[in-house]
Amino acid sequence: MIDQIIEKARPKKTANGCTCTGLTHREASVLLECEIPEKIEKIYEVAEEIKLAFYGNRIVIFAPLYLSNYCVNGCVYCPYHLKNKHIPRKKLSLEDVKAEVIALQDMGHKRLAIESGEDPVNNPIEYILDCIKTIYSVHHKNGDIRRVNVNIAATTAENYKRLKEAGIGTYILFQETYHKQSYEKLHPTGPKHDYAYHTEAMDRAMEAGIDDVGLGVLFGLEMYKYEFAGLIMHAEHLEAVHGVGPHTISVPRVKRADDIDPAAFDNGIDDETFAKIVACIRLAVPYTGMIISTRETEEVRSKLLRLGISQVSGGSRTSVGGYTEEERPSDTEQFDVSDRRSLDEVVRWLMENGHIPSFCTACYREGRTGDRFMTLCKNGQILNCCHPNALMTLSEYLEDYASEKTKEVGYKMIDKELERIPTDKVREIAARNILDIKNSDRRDFRF
Ligand code: SAM
Repeated sequence: MIDQIIEKARPKKTANGCTCTGLTHREASVLLECEIPEKIEKIYEVAEEIKLAFYGNRIVIFAPLYLSNYCVNGCVYCPYHLKNKHIPRKKLSLEDVKAEVIALQDMGHKRLAIESGEDPVNNPIEYILDCIKTIYSVHHKNGDIRRVNVNIAATTAENYKRLKEAGIGTYILFQETYHKQSYEKLHPTGPKHDYAYHTEAMDRAMEAGIDDVGLGVLFGLEMYKYEFAGLIMHAEHLEAVHGVGPHTISVPRVKRADDIDPAAFDNGIDDETFAKIVACIRLAVPYTGMIISTRETEEVRSKLLRLGISQVSGGSRTSVGGYTEEERPSDTEQFDVSDRRSLDEVVRWLMENGHIPSFCTACYREGRTGDRFMTLCKNGQILNCCHPNALMTLSEYLEDYASEKTKEVGYKMIDKELERIPTDKVREIAARNILDIKNSDRRDFRF
């Protein structure tokens, strides 16, 4: 049965590319249960095959931006919980937002995920909207932030509409745990206590017109097999009801933080189990992007990149004002960051391991969200579309922000990767654009 399920998940060639059926939560759960080493290796092999078939060797780069750690909730795993009286509370002013964004642009970032605690008085939706507007308005040197993803607490359909109008990319909300009783215990107080309101947030967001939503579980809180089934069922639900599944899935694990000891949670998972979870998600929902943050070490991230991860953060600070602070760790850090390398180091490391760091946001800017992005992915157009875009945006990064060493590794990779673009015309345009970028002729790349 395990062999049959693995074969079902394997990508199949079609006239215009490749297709993949994905797996039901039941089938995927059978694979997750499997403990036979050779079969697990086969699951990993197919996960890598799917990753390469639909995403290629590109890895999208982003950074979190913490706006405020004021929070009225009581989440027992998060240091921003209301009862934590010794953590300094900070909230960025719009001037601070500008300074943080300039610092992020100076690193080379084009894509952010904004993060905030839930506090209707200190961080109302108007504050979040003002921050988004400010972020998009900053154009420092050749830099700009081209996609702002938003990770804020579950809210009303009306507020999701306003976020959509503000031009957000993906709306991200982690379920934390799908297990209702545990959820209620882990969120004893505050608006986040309401399991149904939290769990149905993505339905409200999609009904309000947000096409791209990002799911996630905070692994370590509850039994991983239960969470895994819940996550895949949630994806099935969105596909069935809204005609499009989640744009991304995040796989955070609970980390040490001020006031928080991960050992206090009984369901921590080891690196091997974690890898198996990532690979099984890859087989179950082949077209969904998968995100790994700097919560994980370089070693863990290396392994997971092969198993289906398509987005990583780099040079991240998880504190409010972290990008303009000299000292670290900061007193408002949300959790310990395990990968503390600079963005330049992360970009070079990715390339040295055969991945193309991509700063592309073209789909979003061309209105290719929701099922329109999925169509591109399903039609196997990645090599003709995403691949050249990744190379062009990488070249922008190399020219504007990279160290000499990274630049050298980068252009070697670009030369090699240009050859892989199948359509002559597209290859020629990409090569010409890269030459223009080198000669500082900047345009607004859109293809
Ligand atoms: N306040 C928003 C909410 O309630 O959904 C989201 C923002 S919060 C800054 C982002 C995520 O960080 C949370 O959803 C949670 O999964 C994660 N997080 C909180 N405490 C953590 C910890 N100690 N280790 C790892 N991740 C943590």
